[in-house]
Amino acid sequence: MSSALKTSPSVTAQSLLSSREVTRAFSFFETNANAITDEQILICSIPASPFGERQRAEYLSEKFSELGLTEVEIDEEGNCLGLRKGTSLSPLLVVSAHLDTVFGPETDFTVVRAGKRLLAPGIADDGCGLVALIALAQAIQNQKIQTEGSILFVGTVGEEGEGNLRGVRHLLTRGRWASKVDAFLSFDGPGVDRITNRALGSRRYRVEITGPGGHSWGDFGLPNPVHALGRAVAKLAGYPLPREPRTTFNVGHIEGGASVNAIPEKAAMDVDLRSGADAELQRLDSFFRRAVRQACDEENASRRPGDPLLELKLELIGERPSGETPADSQFVELAVEATKILGIEPRLDQSSTDSNLPISLGIPAITLGAGGTSGSSHTLAEWYDPTNREVGLKRGLLVILSLVGLDHK
Ligand SMILES: [Zn+2]
Repeated sequence: MSSALKTSPSVTAQSLLSSREVTRAFSFFETNANAITDEQILICSIPASPFGERQRAEYLSEKFSELGLTEVEIDEEGNCLGLRKGTSLSPLLVVSAHLDTVFGPETDFTVVRAGKRLLAPGIADDGCGLVALIALAQAIQNQKIQTEGSILFVGTVGEEGEGNLRGVRHLLTRGRWASKVDAFLSFDGPGVDRITNRALGSRRYRVEITGPGGHSWGDFGLPNPVHALGRAVAKLAGYPLPREPRTTFNVGHIEGGASVNAIPEKAAMDVDLRSGADAELQRLDSFFRRAVRQACDEENASRRPGDPLLELKLELIGERPSGETPADSQFVELAVEATKILGIEPRLDQSSTDSNLPISLGIPAITLGAGGTSGSSHTLAEWYDPTNREVGLKRGLLVILSLVGLDHK
């Protein structure tokens, strides 16, 4: 796949800046700053919980059609797609942002203005990415920017949490564009300097331990699922972390038991394991799975002779591959150049985003900030400030065009 990129009609950001269409697109971002923010408010007011992105996808697909994109559809997984065809289909660049938020269906998604700030769950993550797709498609269409390669705009489902990258996974492994994509660009969150080229890998588990249960006094000695879970948590908390690469673990949710004087029949926990390097993630993963088994064995070993055993169910509920688009690859270099030419010092970064999946498939992929600033991400107090958003959009446009190329007939 990377060879496809090498043969792409890539052009330098410098030469793009001298193009009339690009200059006009830049002014479009400046003069339409308020309209872009109004659009962000509209799209972020539409609820989009995990596995509940349909309404937002429908809104985005109407937008794509209005803007004159072709092949507009919502695919089998729920992603919203629209093509901006160039002179040829290849190189084909996916430009994406994720439709979903981390917030459940009971959430109030109303956007409130407070001074310069917009307040709403998901307003920045990934509301600013979604509106960047619309603004970029609008600028390219309005200024009639003729590209050599083509751009597939995609609002993906399932980027967050238990969505487990299901949208981008479908798009790139089973969808009808799967084998045609040459490069992947995602806008996720705010900022103008970040270039996420390294994919932070993670594995997530649900652990469920069941036993016979009984009376806390009368049946004492029966194996206790909560005690077993406690033993497992203690082992994990004692994991010998490496100094490098950054590696983390989290028991994020725990449940079990019915009453203070009953031996529980069940205990469960959700665990998140992450590492900057695959080998380290594997090591943590094996340690964790062994720790959970040992914890159950120890609890079983302490039971009265003849009592039933605890049963352990270990379910992988999330897996994000790690990897990288190398810093010296053409795609990252184009992004670095586009950032510098706007007077900004680029910052290469590692994170867990939709780009993890293409990177694992060998498709060059990076994630960029969509401009502006934000805070309190993944909380109900999330905010976004669109001041200077246009810088992020300009950078995005330069990266896109330097990859798919301009066609001057
Ligand atoms: Zn995000």
